Amino acid sequence: MKLIPSLALLLALSPLAHAASQTQTFPTSSGPVQITPLNHASTLIEAGGKVIYLDPAKPVKFAGQPKADLILITDIHGDHMDPDADREITKNGTEILAPPAVVQTVTTAKPIANGETKTWENWTIEAIPAYNLKRGPAPGKLFHDKGRGNGYVLTYGGKRFYFSGDTEGVAEMRGLKNIDVAFVCMNLPYTMPPDEAAEAVKAFHPKIVIPYHYRGSDLGVFQKGLEGTGIEVRLLDWYPK
Ligand code: ZN
Repeated sequence: MKLIPSLALLLALSPLAHAASQTQTFPTSSGPVQITPLNHASTLIEAGGKVIYLDPAKPVKFAGQPKADLILITDIHGDHMDPDADREITKNGTEILAPPAVVQTVTTAKPIANGETKTWENWTIEAIPAYNLKRGPAPGKLFHDKGRGNGYVLTYGGKRFYFSGDTEGVAEMRGLKNIDVAFVCMNLPYTMPPDEAAEAVKAFHPKIVIPYHYRGSDLGVFQKGLEGTGIEVRLLDWYPK
């Protein structure tokens, strides 16, 4: 009997258990899709016995996590492209899809450029442009140049999941159609503040929106910006201690 409370304590303290407790399950016509926040942009997606990682990167500890059937990478920065993390979760047959700029470094990846659509297993993968409109490290420069990074719309069993990648509220995001669940970035100085993110989300009106890649942002501002729109704002903890 003494084991039980100590085991419960151990599980409660383990980052893996923390991540698992955040898992969201979405029903689709092909069975459930489970999405687990790992850290910042790093996300685990599981459906039909297949394992997909989006932007697997440090500081996530991948020991004990399932190996990847597919890895999706959005951009070249270290919080999205982490060759060590990719190697750690790669097994025989793991496929990697990434923007051409990432393929220069992660040479085992297959390129998918802005606007391209590919199918993988029972998924359809559309690459949506992700870029800055005005924010950059110096006048005339942008953190994310148009054409380099991808967001993704992933369709499975009739449900459409959008991951924004690092972007401001660009026209390609505002013009998205029929999104069931949107994962949208917000953080300064690199992407956009929560009020701008809320404005962009209003424009394409997903059923559910989940902020991710939000370090340092006031999610209350984001929630307030979407009040009364009928869009469900779901808050998850992407920064486990
Ligand atoms: Zn980023």
